[in-house]
Amino acid sequence: MKGRFESVTNAPVVAIVGRPNVGKSTLFNRIIGARVAIVEKTPGVTRDRIYEWAEWRGRRFLLVDTGGIDVISGKARAGAGSRAEDELEIMQQTRRQAEIAIAESDIILFVVDARDGVTPADHDIAGILRRSGKPVLLVANKLEGKIGGHEAGHMDLYELGLGDAFPISAVHGEGVGDLLDAVIESMGQLPGAGAAEGETGEAETTGFVIKIAVIGRPNVGKSSLVNKILGEERFIVSDVPGTTRDAIDTLFRHGDQEFRIIDTAGIRRKSRIRDQLERYSVLRALRAIDRCDVAVLVLDALEGPTEQETKIGGYIHEAGRGCIIAVNKWDLVKDRENVMTQLERDIRDTLGFLDYAPIVFISAVTGKRVETLLQMIKDVFARWSSRIPTSTLNQVIQEAVVRVEPPSHKGRELKVYYGTQVRSRPPAFAIYVNDPDLMHFSYERYLENTLREAFGFEGTRIELWMRRKT
Ligand code: GDP
Ligand code: GDP
Repeated sequence: MKGRFESVTNAPVVAIVGRPNVGKSTLFNRIIGARVAIVEKTPGVTRDRIYEWAEWRGRRFLLVDTGGIDVISGKARAGAGSRAEDELEIMQQTRRQAEIAIAESDIILFVVDARDGVTPADHDIAGILRRSGKPVLLVANKLEGKIGGHEAGHMDLYELGLGDAFPISAVHGEGVGDLLDAVIESMGQLPGAGAAEGETGEAETTGFVIKIAVIGRPNVGKSSLVNKILGEERFIVSDVPGTTRDAIDTLFRHGDQEFRIIDTAGIRRKSRIRDQLERYSVLRALRAIDRCDVAVLVLDALEGPTEQETKIGGYIHEAGRGCIIAVNKWDLVKDRENVMTQLERDIRDTLGFLDYAPIVFISAVTGKRVETLLQMIKDVFARWSSRIPTSTLNQVIQEAVVRVEPPSHKGRELKVYYGTQVRSRPPAFAIYVNDPDLMHFSYERYLENTLREAFGFEGTRIELWMRRKT
């Protein structure tokens, strides 16, 4: 777990593009490999991921399976239409993926099924990708047992005008290492490569600006909320370029606290351009989450939580950011008391892994509780950043151990010696025990809850790392 959630603001984005069934998801899973297992340990976090951090030879990048972004109508796969219709549908889908990849990524992996040969859809996409000027690596998949030999030289792949193909077998993992080496090499050639990673210097120079990401599905009211916040504040300091491409952040001051709203361009822009951006909103949202301190997950009170919120919420949790759930359009709700109870229940059910995130019912239009929300952001930031003195921590741990006896296994009893905070943002504690294998999930949960009760920690996850005392 350690070090998993370091800031990777400027990490390159690598997108996988290709027709259905060429093996994009298989390649995606192959590249992220071991990471999936870690993700699945968090109960309730969705397994069906299309974005994941990957690492190769010490370089981190965000890997995107564009095949999962646009929900496939099902028609092409179900084979309901005529062949021509299917082909058209496939072509359109793949084109959308290519557009997303071009707009939002730095390096594109274009996967073809080498056993099918080159299809019209492949030609179509190759043309779009070539014209984009983005670095594209052509990947010839399903070549197990034929890699390294002369058989891999599928001549017709040259017709695509994308240079030599990388022969791989996503299923068996053959050739994937060479492909990733090439990805890393391409990263070195990106503009701005070698520039400082992240914004590590900022915290020192500006005291503490709290970085906020306002996240949510289209139409939940993100733009209205941001405008309300900025409209009421007469102290907008400036619009500043975000770290990636066309992202624009807005700095403002509230009381004596400075805030920075991340990527307001993706939120405030009007009309058609915004619609275009919304199509890529998930990826924008992930980037914003990655750069923020506190994420405000905005929901529509009339619609409640959906699958989208589960995905994004899961990412906020995994990224270890502070989190507040803001239920917006509260002015439209009539039977407030009942709806509030019901929504709270729905949110806790669907977003169970964010059980530490406070829920606030707001109206971006009337401004109701927008002030409260800002106060909550400050509080959550403080909890997320907090450092607990070792002596105080151990008093709480000792009391907890006395109150509920640690578990035993096969006659051996778990002994909890002491704890110390090893990190903040989010807080992590090393707990020294005689044998970490004796720790039971429920007891760990109990210790976590005890720390939460003692120290608050509202809005932030906390981690307990079991260590063997030698
Ligand atoms: P996607 O639609 O592009 O994401 O494709 P999937 O990853 O879902 O793969 C489609 C099918 O191709 C699945 O049945 C995979 O098992 C199969 N497949 C993927 N990679 C390989 C490979 O390297 N070799 C072989 N033989 N089959 C593969
Ligand atoms: P975004 O796509 O998430 O940025 O959502 P917008 O801010 O563009 O809002 C979508 C629609 O919801 C617009 O018509 C807004 O006027 C409306 N809206 C946003 N917030 C509220 C609210 O608190 N109450 C009401 N009644 N409407 C709202």
